[in-house]
Amino acid sequence: MRKSDLNNDFSWDYAPALEGTSHVNIQKKYDLFIDGKFVRPSSGKYFDTYNPANEEKISEVAYGNAKDVDKAVKAARKAYKNVWSKVSPSERSKYIYRIARLMQERARELAVIETLDSGKVITESRDVDIPLACNHFFYYAGWADKMEYAFPNRKVEPLGVVGQITPWNFPLLMAAWKIAPALAAGNTVVLKPAETTPLTALKLAEIIKDSGLPDGVVNIVTGYGDTGAALVNHNDVNKIAFTGSTTVGKIIQESIAGTDKKVTLELGGKSANIILDDAPIDQAIEGIVNGIFFNQGHVCCAGSRLFVQEGIADVVIKKLKRRMDNLIVGNPLDKNTDIGAINSKEQLKTINDYIKIGEEEGAQIHQGSCKLPSKGYYCAPTIFTDVAQSHRITQEEIFGPVLTVQTFRTVDEVIQKANNSPYGLAAGIWTDKGSRIFNLSTKLRAGVVWANTYNKFDPTSPFGGYKESGFGREGGLHGLSAYVNLK
Ligand code: NAP
Ligand code: MG
Repeated sequence: MRKSDLNNDFSWDYAPALEGTSHVNIQKKYDLFIDGKFVRPSSGKYFDTYNPANEEKISEVAYGNAKDVDKAVKAARKAYKNVWSKVSPSERSKYIYRIARLMQERARELAVIETLDSGKVITESRDVDIPLACNHFFYYAGWADKMEYAFPNRKVEPLGVVGQITPWNFPLLMAAWKIAPALAAGNTVVLKPAETTPLTALKLAEIIKDSGLPDGVVNIVTGYGDTGAALVNHNDVNKIAFTGSTTVGKIIQESIAGTDKKVTLELGGKSANIILDDAPIDQAIEGIVNGIFFNQGHVCCAGSRLFVQEGIADVVIKKLKRRMDNLIVGNPLDKNTDIGAINSKEQLKTINDYIKIGEEEGAQIHQGSCKLPSKGYYCAPTIFTDVAQSHRITQEEIFGPVLTVQTFRTVDEVIQKANNSPYGLAAGIWTDKGSRIFNLSTKLRAGVVWANTYNKFDPTSPFGGYKESGFGREGGLHGLSAYVNLK
C-alpha cells in the first residue's frame, strides 16, 4: 500500500490485489530433462532457486555438467536422425501447435511461476511474457509445413542439433523464441536456461512431455555458466543460439571460431529513447516509463538513454519525476505493483554500484519516492540528469531501473549522440511528424526502431542488433532462416 505524494489535494491507498498461488504446482526438486525423461544429474548435485521478492528458496534444480550435456546432445542427435528428420512437416506443425495450446491452458500457472522465480510483476508475466511465448509457438507452427513459401525456389534443410542458451530476464519467452523456430525448421534442441530462473523451462519440459513430442527432440539441461560452455564446446552441435551478455557472447564467438558451428548472438543494449519537441508529451512520458521501468529495466532493448529536445526538457523532466513518484515498487504478485523485484542479489549490487558511479561522475540523481520492502531485492526507479556522453552510466548497460537523461537541439545532434554507443539494439522516437520518424529511423544504428511506442514485441517481427548487440535475428521469417541451410 502506498500514499500518493503528489502536490495535489487528493491521494489514495490501493488495497492489495494478490494473485493466488494455490493452483501452482512446484516440485521440491527438479531433474534434467533428457531423452523425454527426467533424469538425475551425473554429479548428483542440485542448486537452489530463490524468489527474489522475499529471498525464500522455491525449489532445487539439477546441476548438469559436461557429461549430462553430452548425454543430452546424444539424445538430440539420435532423435534428429531416427525420428524428427523423418516426421512430415505437417506433423511437426501439429506437435508445435499442441505445445502452444498446452502452454495456453497452463498460462496462469506459468505466469505465477515466472513471477515467483524472476521477481517480475504478475501483470507482466500474465499479459506479456506468457501470451507472447504461446504466440511464438503458434506462429512458427504455421511455418513448419510452408517452408517452400518461406524460402521460394530454395532447397531447405534443417541444421541438425542446436544448442540454445537463455538469460534470466524473460525466461520462458526466450525459451519460446529459441525452441519454436528450431522445431519448425526440423532441428532438435538442447536448451540451457539461466541459473536464477530455471523453473518455467522445466514446466515447459513437462508440457513437452505431455504433448507427446518424440523423446529427445527437446532436452533441457539446467546448470551454471559452465553447463552453457559445455554445450557451446560440444563437437556434435551444429548451431549455438545465445541470448545474454556481450561479455559471454564474445567468449562464445571465440570458442566456436574455426569450427563449422553456426551461431546467433542476441546480446546487450543501451538504447536511445528520443523525444522531439512536437511529441505528444503525456504519451511520451508513459513511453519513457515503459521503456526503462518495464521488467525492472532488465530488458536488453530498454530505453535506458533518454534524449529530450531542449525546448521541452524542463516540462518532460518535471512530469517524468511526478510520474515516478507514483510508481509502486513491491510485491510482484500484487496486481497494483508497477516495479517488481530485481532478479538477484548480484544484479542488485551491480545496479547499486552503477548508481554510485553515476553520483561520483557528477550527475544529478532523482529517485521515485516509493517505500521499498525490507526483505527481497528492490531498487527505486532512478533517473540521472546532467550526464555527459562520456559518463560510464550513459555508455554501459546497467540492466536495471536506471535512466540517463540528456538534451539536444537539432535532429542531427541527437542522431550522433544516439549512435555514439558500442551497442545498437533498439531505439524509440516520439514525434508528431511521419517525416521525422522516417528520417531518424533510417539513420539510427539500431536493429529495432519504435515510433510513438516502446517495447512492443510480436512473433512475426524480427528482433536483433547491430554492433556489440550481436548478430542474427529472432522472430519472423528472419528467425526461421537462422535454423535452416538454404541450397
Ligand atoms: P549472461 O550472464 O551472459 O548469461 C546468459 C546465459 O549464458 C545464462 O544461461 C548463463 O548461465 C549462460 N552462460 C554464462 N557463462 C557462459 C559461458 N561461458 N558459456 C556459455 N554460457 C554461459 O547474461 P544474463 O546476465 O543472464 O542476461 C542478461 C544479458 O542478456 C543482458 O546483457 C541483456 O542485454 C542480454 N539480453 C539480450 C537479449 C537480446 O535479444 N538481445 C534479450 C534478453 C537479454 P548462468 O545463468 O548459469 O550464468
Ligand atoms: Mg529464481
